[in-house]
Amino acid sequence: MEHPTVIVGAGMAGVCAALAISKHAPVLLADIPSPEAASMAAVAGLANPIIPRRANLVWRCCEALKALEKLSLELEVPPLHHGLLRPATSWDAMEGYRARAASHPEIARWHGPEASAEAWPWIETPFGTLEVLEGGAFDLQAFVRAGIGRLESRGASIRADWLLTGWRESLDAVEAVFQGPDGPHTFPCSRLILAAGAGFRNFPELARLRLHPLKGQLLVVEVDHPPDGVRPVSGGGYMVPMGNRMVIGSSYEHQFHGAGPRAEVTDELLSRATKSMPWLEAARVVDERAGIRVTVPGTRLPMVGPLPGHRSTWILSGLASRGLLMAPYLAANLSDWIADPNAIPKELHVTLG
Ligand SMILES: Cc1cc2nc3c(=O)[nH]c(=O)nc-3n(C[C@H](O)[C@H](O)[C@H](O)COP(=O)(O)OP(=O)(O)OC[C@H]3O[C@@H](n4cnc5c(N)ncnc54)[C@H](O)[C@@H]3O)c2cc1C
Repeated sequence: MEHPTVIVGAGMAGVCAALAISKHAPVLLADIPSPEAASMAAVAGLANPIIPRRANLVWRCCEALKALEKLSLELEVPPLHHGLLRPATSWDAMEGYRARAASHPEIARWHGPEASAEAWPWIETPFGTLEVLEGGAFDLQAFVRAGIGRLESRGASIRADWLLTGWRESLDAVEAVFQGPDGPHTFPCSRLILAAGAGFRNFPELARLRLHPLKGQLLVVEVDHPPDGVRPVSGGGYMVPMGNRMVIGSSYEHQFHGAGPRAEVTDELLSRATKSMPWLEAARVVDERAGIRVTVPGTRLPMVGPLPGHRSTWILSGLASRGLLMAPYLAANLSDWIADPNAIPKELHVTLG
């Protein structure tokens, strides 16, 4: 009997990969709960096809948006909001945004300062606003939950309390070693896919890859009477309205001690958001979350492929702040890349740090 593909990490990357592979091969998805898990921190996040500063498009954003939309329909996790606003923060940004709207009218529309103030009086936009027509806001955890539910109904094996402690690859097989609540398990796999997020730091073989942990924190606030028509905003952080609650994110901490949220960061995020949305002064903080994203310095794109010197042990990481856009896209292509690793785009190649 064919050994299953074993995927380690039930975050956005691992769940999307497991969903794709389980369509035509047996899968085991193993995870251990961790306070570092990025997917557990991102209560609501943005799928933003436009990179904030110069308004460049995210790599392969059209394919990524299509993959996200397909997953959203498949798992019945609709967007919380379609589209988002990106206020310009300077005259320079304004020029870049205007140019992007002209070159990609199907993705973005430019609104000058006056039109912007009239359309969205609840936010200060002295330099105008880029209205992003594609993407939007999603409940990232709802994807993970729905994905796991779908995997279970497809008969995939799920171990929610197995810690990967190591692996051994021989010429034609891989064995993954787990610590479960009932003791250690050595599990033969046809392929091992490591989608363990910040957990890469616990394995010397992964720690030498060009991967970098980046802590992020967000908060959830409650406002008794939010203004009408509030929409998701990306700019100097982000804001996603969910009824009378708003998710406000997020910090980028390269140096950190501990994975938990910190009061100073909460204050900073709230005060930054209040500058452009003064009505947030009345907000009460009801939740704070933090997690560790993984980035690939240099490319700022994910990293996918066999580990150096291996054939059947793969890394799937580096989704950074774009888990929503990148995980469905990577998963949609993963089976083809497994069949022919030469087809993996060079931008995503596995590199040493
Ligand atoms: C505050 C914050 C805000 C964010 N906002 C957005 C946003 O607006 N839009 C967006 O697209 N993205 C956002 N992100 C990023 C997004 O959350 C990540 O890109 C995505 O969750 C990465 O998923 P992942 O599966 O690679 O990693 P993770 O979600 O970290 O999942 C890894 C999993 O592996 C498990 N694991 C680790 N080690 C082991 C081991 N040895 N054995 C077994 N299991 C293990 C972990 O417990 C975890 O469950 C945000 C992140 C944060 C922290």
